[in-house]
Amino acid sequence: MSTPETHRFQAEVNQVLHLVIHSLYSNKEVFLRELISNASDALDKLRFTALTSPELLKDDPALHIRITVDAEKNTLSIEDSGIGMTKEEMTDHLGTVARSGSRALMEQLKAKQAEAPTLIGQFGVGFYSAFLVADKVEVVSRSASGGSAHKWTSEGKDTFLVEEADRGPRGTCVTLFLRDDQKEFVAPYRVRELVQRYSDYVEHPIQMRKPQKDGVTADVIPEWETLNRAVALWQRPKADVTDAEHAEFYKHLSHDFEEPLARTHFRVEGSQEFVALLYIPKRAPFDLDVQHRGVRLFVKRVFVMDDCSELVPEWLRFLRGVVDSNDLPLNVSREVLQDTAIVRAIRKQLTKKTLDLLDELAKDRPADYLAFWRAFGAVLKSGIHLDAEQKPRLAPLLRYESTHADGLFSLPEYVARMKEGQPAIYYAFGDKKETLAESPYLEVLRQRGYEVLFMTDPADEWIADGLKEFDGKPLMSVMRAELKLDGKDDVVKTEAPEALKPLFDKIRTLLQDRVTEVRVSSRLTESPVCLVVPEGSHHAYVERVLKGYGRALPKQKRIFEINPTHPLIDKMRALVGADDAMLESYVELLYDQALLQEGSPLAEPQKFARRLTELLNRSTT
Ligand code: ADP
Ligand code: MG
Repeated sequence: MSTPETHRFQAEVNQVLHLVIHSLYSNKEVFLRELISNASDALDKLRFTALTSPELLKDDPALHIRITVDAEKNTLSIEDSGIGMTKEEMTDHLGTVARSGSRALMEQLKAKQAEAPTLIGQFGVGFYSAFLVADKVEVVSRSASGGSAHKWTSEGKDTFLVEEADRGPRGTCVTLFLRDDQKEFVAPYRVRELVQRYSDYVEHPIQMRKPQKDGVTADVIPEWETLNRAVALWQRPKADVTDAEHAEFYKHLSHDFEEPLARTHFRVEGSQEFVALLYIPKRAPFDLDVQHRGVRLFVKRVFVMDDCSELVPEWLRFLRGVVDSNDLPLNVSREVLQDTAIVRAIRKQLTKKTLDLLDELAKDRPADYLAFWRAFGAVLKSGIHLDAEQKPRLAPLLRYESTHADGLFSLPEYVARMKEGQPAIYYAFGDKKETLAESPYLEVLRQRGYEVLFMTDPADEWIADGLKEFDGKPLMSVMRAELKLDGKDDVVKTEAPEALKPLFDKIRTLLQDRVTEVRVSSRLTESPVCLVVPEGSHHAYVERVLKGYGRALPKQKRIFEINPTHPLIDKMRALVGADDAMLESYVELLYDQALLQEGSPLAEPQKFARRLTELLNRSTT
């Protein structure tokens, strides 16, 4: 055998080592993931090369990763039956910063030294992370291409040794001589836990040597426990994965006890390569409101992080599943995820495919879509505001109750039913369909046969304002001042007829502190009065809910609208100058009644009750 050769690490390696140790000291366990990932890469390379040179597999066709811990010696080793390394490869790959990740890191570092600690997260830490936990590392490897085996040894300082070694099978064995304070990594439960957490879906079996019983000699054939599932379900061809497998995988992933409502499984190739498998749950989880996303990020089948919020827009936070990228570095940090083109591209695709899935669900399984809408509609529709670009795709997915019939309807359905000459899509706001259906605001619309949508979620005000229009038709609240009923007579007539002017003036004086305007209404056919919302103000129902949440809102005044054809108004006209006290009672009662009808509380319910009693008393005498 040849004598050991001492090599100096390339200067950059020392820098990388230094950086790794100083930036990842609180996250040492990542070393295992990195070494398993290298072993898995080596197996992948062998499998790929064997496609054209099958003889490479002849002495040992098994592809596996094997972990052995030795509590006495305080060592942990990771062995693979992969491609292995020749002496030159070893010297080169484990002595320089040749690989893409570290090289890119070093280039960035030259440019901006000060940002070293944040930069490290952008690049895989790789093999050198072994020195996070070990004070000495030994790598014994024999290349599948032949030649003798070699051993590489280093204490992670300035130099490493390379010498000939004894190793029969092809592949690599990396042995870590753990530091005294890193004994936790020889505990089988700890290794098992880390493998399951980070490497469960690595495609090759990761096995751990079962502890030997006392008195059994080392030459007994060891028994191996497989730690990972070794199937990246999402990497299998879409058509090969059964519904039952999906159900099981989804449950494992989401801790749900039910099957998912729908799924989408797709692969993106080209400049950005990734696979995604996304599920929509049947029910909203209790923590849906939390800033939490149930999508896990994998890089080349190695688990990187849970709840990857960067990949999924907030308004799709009901999704569960995995994204497996071929382009991101393994050790990618959250900060970096927030700001890379790769992540933006993935996010865009996820959004598109999820919207495709929802379109499909709405079309092919409408009952299931409604179940989805009831569980997650509130989350989905916030996308109208959070992601204005998606408005055209989100709008047809909205669902509302309406005057048309029982059930939930879409905007395209509404538009298809619109009357000839109907200028807008109308909606009304309130706490529930039943009260809204009785509301005076619908009177003239009902008369014209115009459908009105019922909005009962306070957020819908924000949604309708964000949407503004659908299919070229404006969205218009029947409770707002700017209501338009047909295309031609654009502005509603609000001027009081000559005969009613004294009455209107009287009402203005009485209500001047409470309303901004008193005018003629074009929306009432049966009721005498109503209050309408001036442009830019909240609907009464929304205001009430917001106040309930403790949101202080500036006092908003309404416009008081009067139906001049109502017989009561004629009566009141006769009271002007004749019985002003009585007239005041009428006005106050009508105002309070309008407040109740728009869904606002009364300022002085006792006064209202007293006036009402008085009036009833009079009318019966
Ligand atoms: P990366 O995996 O990103 O290339 P690493 O620092 O993890 O970077 O590894 C450096 C190189 O060392 C690898 O590219 C590979 O060539 C070689 N290497 C590391 N571990 C193994 C192994 N188990 N089998 C074969 N080659 C290996
Ligand atoms: Mg690596």
